[in-house]
Amino acid sequence: MNAQQKYDYVYIGTGPITAIDAIHKQMQSNGDVLLIDEKTQVGGAWVAIEVGEFGHLEVGCHIWSYNKKAYQFLGTFLNLELIALNPQPFFIKGNQKLTYDYKNAALTLKKIASDSLRLRFKSLMQFLFKNPSARVPIVPKKYLYPKGGAREIQAAIINALHEREIKMELGQKVIGAAKKDGHWELYSTNGQTYITKELYLTSTSALERIEFEDKRIELEHRKVNYSHFHLIIDRKLKQKLSYVRVLDDPYIHRLSDITYQLERQMNPDQTVLLVGFFYDKKPADMSDSNLIEHIFSYLKKRNWVEEDVQLVYSQINHFETTYIPSHQVKAINELDDTIQLIHTTDLIYGIQAKLKDWRA
Ligand SMILES: Cc1cc2nc3c(=O)[nH]c(=O)nc-3n(C[C@H](O)[C@H](O)[C@H](O)COP(=O)(O)OP(=O)(O)OC[C@H]3O[C@@H](n4cnc5c(N)ncnc54)[C@H](O)[C@@H]3O)c2cc1C
Repeated sequence: MNAQQKYDYVYIGTGPITAIDAIHKQMQSNGDVLLIDEKTQVGGAWVAIEVGEFGHLEVGCHIWSYNKKAYQFLGTFLNLELIALNPQPFFIKGNQKLTYDYKNAALTLKKIASDSLRLRFKSLMQFLFKNPSARVPIVPKKYLYPKGGAREIQAAIINALHEREIKMELGQKVIGAAKKDGHWELYSTNGQTYITKELYLTSTSALERIEFEDKRIELEHRKVNYSHFHLIIDRKLKQKLSYVRVLDDPYIHRLSDITYQLERQMNPDQTVLLVGFFYDKKPADMSDSNLIEHIFSYLKKRNWVEEDVQLVYSQINHFETTYIPSHQVKAINELDDTIQLIHTTDLIYGIQAKLKDWRA
């Protein structure tokens, strides 16, 4: 099949920033908007997958950075119930435990000090006027998160897109885009061509090339494979956790207790842990069950679980994402105003950066 479909605005992807921007574009212009995603699920990195009989749960250990305006916007726009993480998220390394606020501030102040010694003041200016992660933690901030996790975000995005009757093509990978005769032509894996006046990408849009007049940008993607275990254990943790950044283990890097997100609670004593680990760093002869044993010994060493804790269920998932490098983000955004790459690294900062446009 080689058909052509024409739109005013086409977005590559259905992640939250992409979807919310598309909704605003449609509200502001009343134009014909299409979202294309190579996956069959809407939501980008914020999808939920089926975890045994426990229902749908998020794929990765997620956290929302602190930004009050972005929290308020997401809560209202997507109608999400936000709860304060309990306890608040922290970093851990050996005997040191640092909450997110203090860790971010310590890193920012360290950078400002080292830049200032070299008479560079950009990071100081950003700290004072711009950077949302740089805060003076006199009064610790409350990190919030949706009660149902990514499942709730995904459902809210689908709902909002349906309400605005925004079209979606799922299971279609866009390979390349070329500007011809004043419009963009997009080519997809199944031979479908889409024509649009304006084209929107994000940092994770995995196109192979973009052609514009005599320029041809071959996109260099940085691939990251995020691997996680959903581990259900037979009892409650000895100490409460919400989200932990682990800095002292060769494989484990993140850990969250997402029991509060359960769709179906099979037993009130059970705990659902989501553990992010560096799959690529593990030795070839280390099996998945060896990895689980490793995670259990880490949990025991930290005194987070009892010695005789039992595993009820485990599931591994690998979630591959590619990122367009910043020099190509810049090159794409300099082409002309009919193509825009929304640069995103983090959901909350991405939302915060777009709030001005959406309120215009
Ligand atoms: C595993 C993981 C964990 C993360 N955790 C956090 C977190 O805890 N907190 C946080 O704030 N941020 C996190 N992020 C960052 C996250 O990317 C952003 O928060 C947010 O999802 C960005 O939204 P987006 O709209 O740019 O698109 P994304 O959510 O990145 O979605 C991009 C979509 O585009 C589709 N796509 C890409 N290329 C093509 C193509 N050529 N054709 C068709 N479809 C295509 C993909 O299938 C995907 O669905 C995480 C990212 C990942 C991958």
